[in-house]
Amino acid sequence: MIVYADNAATTKPSPRALEALVEVAGTFYGNPSSIHTPGQKAKEVLEAARASIARSIGADPREVTFTSGGTEADNHALRSAARLGAKKGKMHLVSSTIEHHAILHTLEALKSEGFEVTLVPVDGAGLVDPQDVKRVIRPDTALVSIMYANNEIGTIEPVKEIAAICREAGVLFHTDAVQAVGHLDLDVHELGIDMLSFSGHKFHGPRGVGALYVRKGVRLLPFIEGGAQERGLRAGTDNLPAIHAMAAALEESLEGRAEKMATVAALRDRLISGLLSIPRTYLNGDPDKRLPGNVSICFEGIEGESLLLMLDSRGIAASSGSACTSGSLDPSHVLLAIGRPHEIAHGSLRLTLDVENTIEEAEYILDTLPGIVEYLRGISPVWEKLEQTA
Ligand code: PLP
Repeated sequence: MIVYADNAATTKPSPRALEALVEVAGTFYGNPSSIHTPGQKAKEVLEAARASIARSIGADPREVTFTSGGTEADNHALRSAARLGAKKGKMHLVSSTIEHHAILHTLEALKSEGFEVTLVPVDGAGLVDPQDVKRVIRPDTALVSIMYANNEIGTIEPVKEIAAICREAGVLFHTDAVQAVGHLDLDVHELGIDMLSFSGHKFHGPRGVGALYVRKGVRLLPFIEGGAQERGLRAGTDNLPAIHAMAAALEESLEGRAEKMATVAALRDRLISGLLSIPRTYLNGDPDKRLPGNVSICFEGIEGESLLLMLDSRGIAASSGSACTSGSLDPSHVLLAIGRPHEIAHGSLRLTLDVENTIEEAEYILDTLPGIVEYLRGISPVWEKLEQTA
């Protein structure tokens, strides 16, 4: 049995998305930029996918630019806003300490181009205080970028309030909504945001495809130079099969969403309460303002990496933080930002659930994990010391 509990890293493409992918790859193979009938048919499919995606997030089709995924959408938003800001002498960018590396590393790169970056802190639950954002905004701030929901600890940020503060201050607001789109009800106009990034493979679409929403009236610079695709903003022949499949997956995610998310949240809560009965175990992230599928736990006295390997040998696919930090021995920057000391941050486990996970799988995890934690603590010199000082 394989229990797949790493849905924040990527999800299994749904049969509907796969069918859409194959259908378009085989049937609408024309280049949407070509003038002939197969090309024009492909263009129709492209624009239908754009309209469907726009509908799913409450946007206008002209506000949606396709990208190769969340990372590219984040890069596009940040680099474009920074460069346009620089032309007006605005060299200051604001973000938070718990962003994904797609944001943090882009900001680092922009720093080397002369931009100044302020990262607002989060509280112990991983929440950004909108008043902190207000305090750090300056006349030369070009952009604020705060994630919608955190990929490691699942905390959902108050983006609507932050968007309102930015609007009042006349500063652009971008949100990395890669973990939110397809999982939470979200309407870009209702939220009042200027730019939003998302990615197809996080909601049962294919990987290597995503989109950037840019509110009408907000300027965007081209990200890749070349042809006139995506209104000249993102050159290169569109990945039509993947775009069509992403639109199908997003539409599917909307069907019966409230019910699906309630089911996932119930599994999440069962796991959280079961795991917290293990001594010296802590929940990361906000208990309430939390993604429906996120279980993020720290176990004192063990190494997350060893835990992952042992879980894998028992058929449980999980993660110690984000997929990018798994495989690195540095503790997660997110866990450090919420105040976890290094030795506790090292013992982290992230289980991310989906509507396909079952109660039997949750019970299997709950039957399996305590024994592994006990075993690893039994061979851990750190745990021995902890017990002596207790
Ligand atoms: N932003 C967040 C919050 C993510 O969780 C991820 C992926 O894990 C990304 C950005 C990057 O998205 P992609 O894998 O589509 O490039």
